[in-house]
Amino acid sequence: MRGIVFDIDDTLYCRQDMLVQAAENVLGVKIPDWREFIRIFYEKSDVNMAQLESGEVSTRDTNGWRYNETFRLLGLPYKPQDGGRAADAYLELQSHMFISDGLAAVLDKLASDPSLKLAILTAGESKHQWNKVDMLGLDRWFDRASIIVTGDTPYTKPDVELFRMMETRLGFSPSDLWMIGDNYDKDIAGAIAAGWHSLWINRRGLPAPDALPDITVLNDDEFVSALAKEFT
Ligand SMILES: [Mg+2]
Repeated sequence: MRGIVFDIDDTLYCRQDMLVQAAENVLGVKIPDWREFIRIFYEKSDVNMAQLESGEVSTRDTNGWRYNETFRLLGLPYKPQDGGRAADAYLELQSHMFISDGLAAVLDKLASDPSLKLAILTAGESKHQWNKVDMLGLDRWFDRASIIVTGDTPYTKPDVELFRMMETRLGFSPSDLWMIGDNYDKDIAGAIAAGWHSLWINRRGLPAPDALPDITVLNDDEFVSALAKEFT
């Protein structure tokens, strides 16, 4: 028996495309370097993730601030209200999020294999993340009891307690578990520290870190192929 634990954002669907698209729609310009845009936006996300998870600040306000900070640091022309407008545009794009056909097909195979158990470990505010579970139709492959949203816990990624919580939830030992995620520091370093296997979706082509995951892929096609190769 093996457990495969997925992150949601930028793992099961491509969040970064939507973040950049929303900014371009609001500012009316093409973002020159999307990798740098995402790098700064995600760096800013780390600043207020804990308040977001605790419900102290709303997802909309948090994202609005992250957008304005990113616009400012990149020297893009913006007005103070554009951050909030971009946050709204992003939420609207998110309401149309979907799982790609290729990934859905491989998830169907994994979910029908009795020797595998599929689970989710996702960071963010509770209601917002559970909405994504609904919008992506994740009930097709995942039991709700196998989904942990950090906003429902006292911990945030990559706290090893979250990985221990998942081990208890699924009844697996660390060496039987795989973490699948896009964020090296939160998903992969956490999994390695917990003694799990890991598959890193390195979408931005970041330099290889010291502690290597078992598998690294660079895009969705490689991700779907790697899942099928390792688990089917
Ligand atoms: Mg992610």
